[in-house]
Amino acid sequence: MTICKGCGAVLQNEYPDQAGYTPRLDAEYCRRCFRLIHYDDLTVSMRTGIDSDAVLKEAENTPGAVLWVVDLFDFEAGMIPGLSAHMPELILYSDRNGYDVETYIQIYNCMGFMMQIEIEGVNGVIWNAKKPVMTIKSMAAGRCTPFVGITFSFATIRPQDMVTLGAFTPDEVHEDVEIALAAIERRRPVLGKRSSPARTAIVDARQ
Ligand SMILES: [Zn+2]
Repeated sequence: MTICKGCGAVLQNEYPDQAGYTPRLDAEYCRRCFRLIHYDDLTVSMRTGIDSDAVLKEAENTPGAVLWVVDLFDFEAGMIPGLSAHMPELILYSDRNGYDVETYIQIYNCMGFMMQIEIEGVNGVIWNAKKPVMTIKSMAAGRCTPFVGITFSFATIRPQDMVTLGAFTPDEVHEDVEIALAAIERRRPVLGKRSSPARTAIVDARQ
């Protein structure tokens, strides 16, 4: 097993469209890296490009997905300036001083986990913020279930605010999105067996 000196992929001579392909297994570089070094030829993106229709379709079929297009030649202009406020006072200072930001990021969850002041206080800061607030840690780092955490967050933020969360698997994403949509639409989420961490007997038994 030889590794490409350029990209680290395992060299192989069977699948030309996959990583590590080289016609000669005793080569030092895969074909992609070889062409990049010697011909400035970016085989993957310059020749075949990205199938934008496929990307758009995938985004369209994924509830809750946000497609963010940035211009690589003017990267900063494509970014949204946000202010991460672990201390809720930061939002007040920023609003008061008119800082040039488009959004705030604030820890907010039903357990007060890692929140500097009580939940009611942070809730007030969010509702008075002049910019949309992206709330994070809605499940208090696994201390409550997605159903509890996400439902609380969506029930207590404004329509322009967001709940941001991470997931390990696509199943978790679908489950979290369904819980979020149910909270927004004020209905009961349609869920299979729990796939997220921190499952509890109560949630497993609900039906
Ligand atoms: Zn390579």
